[in-house]
Amino acid sequence: MKQVFNFNAGPAALPKEVLQQAQQEMLNFKDSGISVMEHSHRGKLYESVHEEAKTLLKELLSIPDSYEVLFLQGGASLQFAMLPMNFLKQGELAGFITTGAWSEKARNEAAKIGATEEIVSGKEQNYTTIPALPSFAEDRYKYVHVTSNNTIFGTQWENFNAISHPFLIADMSSDILSRKIPVEKFGIIYAGAQKNLGPAGVTVVILRKDLLQQANKDLPAILSYETHVKNRSLYNTPPTFSIYLLHLVLQWVKSLGGLDAIEKKNEEKAAFIYEAIDHSNGFYSGHATKDSRSLMNITFTLPNEDLTKTFLAEAEQRGFIGLAGHRSVGGCRASTYNAVPMEACKALRNFMDEFYLNYG
Ligand code: PMP
Repeated sequence: MKQVFNFNAGPAALPKEVLQQAQQEMLNFKDSGISVMEHSHRGKLYESVHEEAKTLLKELLSIPDSYEVLFLQGGASLQFAMLPMNFLKQGELAGFITTGAWSEKARNEAAKIGATEEIVSGKEQNYTTIPALPSFAEDRYKYVHVTSNNTIFGTQWENFNAISHPFLIADMSSDILSRKIPVEKFGIIYAGAQKNLGPAGVTVVILRKDLLQQANKDLPAILSYETHVKNRSLYNTPPTFSIYLLHLVLQWVKSLGGLDAIEKKNEEKAAFIYEAIDHSNGFYSGHATKDSRSLMNITFTLPNEDLTKTFLAEAEQRGFIGLAGHRSVGGCRASTYNAVPMEACKALRNFMDEFYLNYG
C-alpha cells in the first residue's frame, strides 16, 4: 500500500491502531456474532460503549460532575442554531467573539433566533490574529460565544485567561482533546467529532447541568438539550458506529498518556512545520501572526499561484494529501490533529525545505 501522509482538515486522520481494532471487530463485536453497527442502541453491548465513551471523555478532559456529556448529531453547525434556540430569549443579547469564518456562521445563525452583538472581530486583520478583547459588562450578555481554534485561518486561543463570562460557550470543533482545557470556565463546549475525536456523525456537547433551568421549554424535543440530558443521548437512535469509533479514539488517547502527552506531541509536531516556514526567508509566508498560531491548522502561502499549484502537485506525488487551503482563502494548510504522526510532520518539513531549495 502506498504511504500517505494525511493532513486533511476534517474529516481527518484517524489513529491507525483504532482503524485496525475496528477492522478486527468489524464482523464480530465482543463475540456477539455481528458488528457493533447491527446492535440495538438500547442493547447492553452498545450501551456499554456509549457510557464508557462518556466516562473516558470526562476523565481525559477532567470534566467535573456538574457537567453532562452529550452525543448529538447535526454537526457543530446544528449547535450554532440549538444554542440560541435553547438559551437566547426575547430581550436578551448574545455576545460574539469573531475570530474566523466559523465564528461568523455561529453568530449569523444566532441572529436568526435572537439579538446578537459582536464584542470584537479580527476580520479587519483578515483573521490573521486573535484580537485583544475589549472590556465589557458581563451582565450585558446572556452568553458569550468564542471559537477556540480557527480551522480555516489557522489561529488559536493560546489560553482563555482573557475571557471571562458566567455563561461562556466555546466551539472547540478543531482543537478539542488536543490539549488540556479549563472546562469549569465554560457553560457549554461543543465540537463536531471529525477532527480529533473520531469520524463525522457525532457531535460532543459538554454542558453545565444548572443551565438547563434557563432553557426554553417550548422547543421540539429533538432540539432541546433537556431531552438529550434526560435520555442520556439515547432519545433517538444515536450514530452508534461513530460513537464506537470515538470510544476507541478515547482509549487510544488514554493509552498514549492522556492530554499531557498529546499536548506535548502536538507542540512538537507543529513546531516542525512552523520551522520550515520561518527558515524559508519569506518563501513560505504563515497566515497567522506568531502569537496566534494554531497547533492544529498551519496555514501558509507561497510567492504566487503557480508555485502553490506546483507545491501541491509535487506534495501529492510524494504522498502528502489534504494540503490545499480552504476553498475560501486558498494557499496551503496542514492540519496536524492528534492522529497525524510525528513522522508525517517531519516528512512534510523535509519536503518543504527541499521545495524551497529547488524553487526559492
Ligand atoms: N466550527 C469549526 C471551528 C469547524 O472547524 C467546523 C467544521 N470544519 C464547524 C464548526 C462546522 O462543523 P460541522 O461540519 O460538524 O457542522
